[in-house]
Amino acid sequence: MNILLLGSGGREHALAWKLAQSPLCDRLFAAPGNPGIAEHAELVALDATDHAATVAFCEAHRVGLVVIGPEAPLVDGLADSLRAAGFAVFGPSRLAAQLEGSKGFTKDLCARAEIPTAGYERVTSEAAGLAALARFGAPVVIKADGLAAGKGVTVAMTLAEAEEAVREIFSGRFGEAGAEAVIEEFLEGEEASFFALTDGSTIMPFGSAQDHKRVGDGDTGPNTGGMGAYSPARVLTPLLEGEVLSKIVAPTVRAMADAGMPYSGVLYAGLMLTAEGPKLIEYNARFGDPECQVLMMRLESDVAEILLACAENRLSACQQPAFSRDTALTVVMAAEGYPGTPKKGGRIDGIPSAELNGAKVFHAGTALGIDGVLTANGGRVLNVTARGETVRAAQTAAYAAVDTIVFPEGFCRRDIGKNEVAREIVREG
Ligand code: AMP
Repeated sequence: MNILLLGSGGREHALAWKLAQSPLCDRLFAAPGNPGIAEHAELVALDATDHAATVAFCEAHRVGLVVIGPEAPLVDGLADSLRAAGFAVFGPSRLAAQLEGSKGFTKDLCARAEIPTAGYERVTSEAAGLAALARFGAPVVIKADGLAAGKGVTVAMTLAEAEEAVREIFSGRFGEAGAEAVIEEFLEGEEASFFALTDGSTIMPFGSAQDHKRVGDGDTGPNTGGMGAYSPARVLTPLLEGEVLSKIVAPTVRAMADAGMPYSGVLYAGLMLTAEGPKLIEYNARFGDPECQVLMMRLESDVAEILLACAENRLSACQQPAFSRDTALTVVMAAEGYPGTPKKGGRIDGIPSAELNGAKVFHAGTALGIDGVLTANGGRVLNVTARGETVRAAQTAAYAAVDTIVFPEGFCRRDIGKNEVAREIVREG
């Protein structure tokens, strides 16, 4: 089978690495890909916003499975165009991707299906937003309705901050994504991510992870796309996972099917583990980045077989995925300036030696010059990923690999996994 993978981040490098290992995979194409993905796939210059061109490519290259990595093409309906042309696609339809593309849509669905989540109000004007804030009080959370590249959410500790966030959304800063906002009750607890594959009826649990969103050590500084992650999230005990499945994921899959927009693909639930139990913070319609990297590092099953079964509505006949009991931990190396304006062009050396002891370096924003020199070409540049029997062991292995990489214009956090490491120390004395 030929496979087309869409995307160019560390998430897609991890998927390409696993897909290429599958005995089902003949040719793997990636668009646009990156220099790391190019080690496993043939890169093609294909514009995923051009649905007709993407369909034509799949026809010409007899593609048996399309894997859509990022959210934008999903929300844009690329999966629909490909399915209409008869192709098997891993990723939800445009309507189903509203679970990520519209926070208001998801909150209404949660309300209808009685899914535990923060109390909320949808507002469509600054005046309505300010009035809602007065009812909620601080702390409170303000979210632009649509996709805002991770910048549309403000957790406001004071009313003044909250009012500023409402004004910013309705000033037009987020374009269409900010035509509407959601005002939300502030939830307290520890965050964790839970992944499930579904073909619209069968649900296959697909592991858990925790990530670090802030740029600086000790969870300080501005939010980023993610500076590191580890899997599994041990705070999400089997008991809590059962609760997430029965009270959050299953009712969501049912409600989507009942609404005539069955969800097919990976459902990534961002959770707050509150004193009253797990509550849904948000859904994503794709794998997380960098969470995908740690899931793929632990996955022992054939990813192509599973994603194809999901795309062809055959998950019920598919074996449960096998994951290593090890912890996988990834450290993001970013370019100086990230998450503001990252410095491009910084030279990177030492990846082969970083991988000598079993670590894997997934590329995100890299470029390979004709001189063979690898340079930084984006904010998040590399994902240095390692496994260990404990979080501490995985952390040690990942940082040992980081330390062999020579990237003078890059930086990383030095404490990825810190909460879980602290718990291990308490448990083990
Ligand atoms: P989201 O894009 O909805 O995942 O929000 C981004 C981040 O904001 C989450 O990872 C949480 O850290 C925080 N957040 C979102 N909603 C809430 C909430 N209701 N209560 C507390 N923190 C929240």
